[in-house]
Amino acid sequence: MTEINIPTVPGAESLEYRTEVKQLLDILAHSLYTDREIFLRELLSNASDALNRIQFELLTNHDVVDPDAELAIRIKADSEAKTITISDSGIGMNRDDLVQNLGTIAHSGAKTFLQNAGEGQSTLEEIIGQFGVGFYSVFMVAAEVSVTSRSYRLDDQAWTWSSTGDSKFTLTPAEREARGTTIEIKLKDDALEFANSWRLEQIIKKHSDYVSFPIYVKEKEGEEKIANRRTALWRQSPSSVKSEEYEEFYKQITFDSEAPLLTVHMVADAPVSVRALLFIPAKRERGMMRMQTEHGLRLYSRKILIQEHNKDLLPEYFRFIDGVVDSEDLPLNVSREMVQSNPVMRQMKRALTNRIFRDLKTMAEQDAEKYLRFWQELGAFLKEGVATDTGNHDSLIDLLRFQSTTTGADAWISLKQYKERMKDEQKAIYYVLGEDMKSVARSPHLDYFLANNIEVLYLVDPIDGYMTTMLREYDGKTLQNIDDAGLELPETDKKPDSESASVTQTDFDQLIERFKTVLADRVTGVRESKQLVNSPCRLVSPEDSFDRDLQRIRRLTEQNYELPKKLLELNRSHPLITNLTQMIAHSTEAPLVDAAISQLYDNALLLEGIHPNPADMVAQIQTLMETAIAAKVKE
Ligand code: ADP
Ligand code: MG
Repeated sequence: MTEINIPTVPGAESLEYRTEVKQLLDILAHSLYTDREIFLRELLSNASDALNRIQFELLTNHDVVDPDAELAIRIKADSEAKTITISDSGIGMNRDDLVQNLGTIAHSGAKTFLQNAGEGQSTLEEIIGQFGVGFYSVFMVAAEVSVTSRSYRLDDQAWTWSSTGDSKFTLTPAEREARGTTIEIKLKDDALEFANSWRLEQIIKKHSDYVSFPIYVKEKEGEEKIANRRTALWRQSPSSVKSEEYEEFYKQITFDSEAPLLTVHMVADAPVSVRALLFIPAKRERGMMRMQTEHGLRLYSRKILIQEHNKDLLPEYFRFIDGVVDSEDLPLNVSREMVQSNPVMRQMKRALTNRIFRDLKTMAEQDAEKYLRFWQELGAFLKEGVATDTGNHDSLIDLLRFQSTTTGADAWISLKQYKERMKDEQKAIYYVLGEDMKSVARSPHLDYFLANNIEVLYLVDPIDGYMTTMLREYDGKTLQNIDDAGLELPETDKKPDSESASVTQTDFDQLIERFKTVLADRVTGVRESKQLVNSPCRLVSPEDSFDRDLQRIRRLTEQNYELPKKLLELNRSHPLITNLTQMIAHSTEAPLVDAAISQLYDNALLLEGIHPNPADMVAQIQTLMETAIAAKVKE
């Protein structure tokens, strides 16, 4: 940051914004964003944060400026002067805080905003609606803004920060006795609607009703009145809260524009006192964005915010859940670091986790359609849970849903349903791993199962291979990957019969040798298949490759990860294989044979979804086409 001192105003300095702030201001200034009223939500949320912080500080330290001031926010509208003034008695900012907080981008949502806006992925409306852009959103309505602040620390001076939203801001020493921050907004001519207390109250009701400190609003010479409801909704009895209130509260704490999928209001006094209001969002997008930014629950002790993003109250894989937790049993003077090791926290975590499982289970049982919406958006998190949380294994497994050779793309089943319709002689629960539904449905591994009408689960999410490492059994039945070379399957009449195959053992052995020569160290071996029906060949995993389910995810997460080699199995009754056998039986020359063998191997890799570079096949396919067409022309 370059500091340019302007000598004409004593003590005033002009500073440049960081580049990313300039970009953001530029986008905001040139946008025709319609929902400009959210600037107020952003400023009030900052004031409320500042009040929470001083409230927390006051628990242990009274040596601050104005220790007895009312914790409140005051708004004044002046239509003649075209201004709005917002003051709080919060923690305040000193000079360094002002430069750091209002000269760079602190707000994580705003960073995401810039990245997305830069890549042109989302519209401004969508992004602002979803994340807000923090303090700078004030420049959607302001021609000029000044922020005068006095920090709570006794030896800090007051300063005024001001800017017109171009590339610079100014800092000037200020006179201010009271602790806290005052923001004065000089409205743009097209934003005068906001210099009106009625309009401001309306916006507060909509976006900031649950701010827990009083927001006093007043017209220039008018009366002051509290505009927000301030209720700690989570401390009320669940039967007295309306569903619209839950929804509004959720939107106000998360800035999500959509209603939550599930609301969990928990009130318990034993074994610990817990008042909690938890929400599952309707969209994964939110959950994912939260992962990149900060997730966690707001932790209150007797209505005082102790920690904003607490991660110790739910297992990590429930990080898509938002909300508030309050307990009478947490000591008030607990430091943020101490929170984690407090035994009350462990008890609360168990109680909250159990409650979430219980409510998800109820949803699955009573509203299957809604549960599927949840599953499709957020099911991957539960799969992560299966892989990481053995303590809640059974609860998690009951919540899993799958698609299969029987359901196709239209329905989902639980492991319980799978087990209920297993065939009598069926020993295991079968699954196949793949890239996506379309390609996995063509997997040669399915030949035997389709022919014998045995259901196979499709696992096509990258995390599935990770999940199956910890999902070895369900209710007495093992789960088996059907690409297993050593899979033992019940005898049936639908198996290919080598006796009736039209090639002799000697000729077929010769073909196997030829495959081995051509593929060399690309495979661990070549052998006859006992299971293939409609497919010419398949790649199976050697029996000792215990981590094969992990291969897919390692391939995505580790650079230079080389897939372990597989074993190629040939279907002796398939026309392609019988014809190839005959070709080499007649002449070992046949150039077509080697290209065909290579291509069969490539096809198998493709069907497994593990071909390193499909474009490499083009030359080979062309050779095959040329040979085939040339043969036709000669006829
Ligand atoms: P965020 O609130 O996500 O951190 P903002 O852009 O809204 O991002 O605010 C940037 C920072 O400015 C805040 O983190 C806070 O440190 C500081 N700030 C803004 N408004 C106030 C205020 N009224 N009192 C004290 N600090 C404030
Ligand atoms: Mg903010």
